[in-house]
Amino acid sequence: MRHAHLPHRGRRPVSRAPPHVDACRMGTVDGASRQGRSKWISGGCPGPCPAVRDSRSSNPTGPHLTARHEQTRNQEMVSGSCLCGTVTYEVQGPFTSMVNCHCSMCRKQHGAPFATFLPAPLAGFRWTGAEAALVTFQSSTRSVRSGCKTCGAPAPIVLPERNMALVPAGPLEGDLPLTPQMHIFVGSKAPWYAITDGLPQHEAFPPEFGVQGVERPTVDARPGVTSGSCLCGEVAFEVEGDALIMQNCHCTRCRRARGAAHGTNIFYRAEQFRWLRGAELAVDYKIPEAKHHTVTFCRRCTGALPRVDTVRNVAVVPAGCLDTDPPLRPQRHIFTAHKAAWFAITDELPQLPEAPPPLFPRT
Ligand SMILES: [Zn+2]
Ligand SMILES: [Zn+2]
Ligand SMILES: [Zn+2]
Repeated sequence: MRHAHLPHRGRRPVSRAPPHVDACRMGTVDGASRQGRSKWISGGCPGPCPAVRDSRSSNPTGPHLTARHEQTRNQEMVSGSCLCGTVTYEVQGPFTSMVNCHCSMCRKQHGAPFATFLPAPLAGFRWTGAEAALVTFQSSTRSVRSGCKTCGAPAPIVLPERNMALVPAGPLEGDLPLTPQMHIFVGSKAPWYAITDGLPQHEAFPPEFGVQGVERPTVDARPGVTSGSCLCGEVAFEVEGDALIMQNCHCTRCRRARGAAHGTNIFYRAEQFRWLRGAELAVDYKIPEAKHHTVTFCRRCTGALPRVDTVRNVAVVPAGCLDTDPPLRPQRHIFTAHKAAWFAITDELPQLPEAPPPLFPRT
């Protein structure tokens, strides 16, 4: 065995959460405690990610909206859809804030480095197609998330008790009247993602939100092996050895599939990949008009999972579902001509406006 000399930390069976504990409190990367920070912020936003206070409040903007946070208020109508087009919705302002959440639960559900939410008043939110096609998942004691049953794309989070809807901004087309104003849960940010913009960063929820994160345990890393799991933890996998490439994809399909500013994918050879548990819960959705583009997600939680294509001998891992740090960092942006208008690329990585050259050129 190649790793017989190493302690078998990565192969320890993960114990099932007892019924009174959130099932999602398993198997997530703990960026916070690895950096020596306190552990309670190591996991997910239970809110989830409430960026505005109850809009029934006497102060509709909320005291947390400082002059810097405060941007345009308006009555714009924007619409969005999941990747397969079954789940569609419209949302109307006033929009008062937009937040990038780096918590491990958002990363796992979206499969992306972070999720961006546009909070809107509940009165302005409307499902326009197939609300019944949603899979809902209790991701913490206070939070229910949902995604499309067919394609797994994250859906808006409707919070009647807060009189608001949290809309994932990735699928929204056209010009939004505002841009993200802050990063939250950077204490559990993916180690492979560098924040290069100048927006305010909060370790967890900003204090003015008045709520705390939930604790999420860590997964031990083994040298040479990168592991990951879905949001509910029922599906887990590992890949061994070096990756071919890691890149940020801004195409419309990735933005719809991930519900995020962009996807970040790591490409491996299929033989480097193996499921550790729950492979029977992994569902594939192939875009009918696409030659190859297929996404894979957990049937139970709709969390993003790797797509394994044994015919092309490639495994595409959405980096957001990783539990341990991969051996490389994003190397470029692709399809930047299709980038979300509200997202600014602020790093120095090369940008390709359209598709990159084929990873495996025909010989
Ligand atoms: Zn769908
Ligand atoms: Zn979050
Ligand atoms: Zn799952």
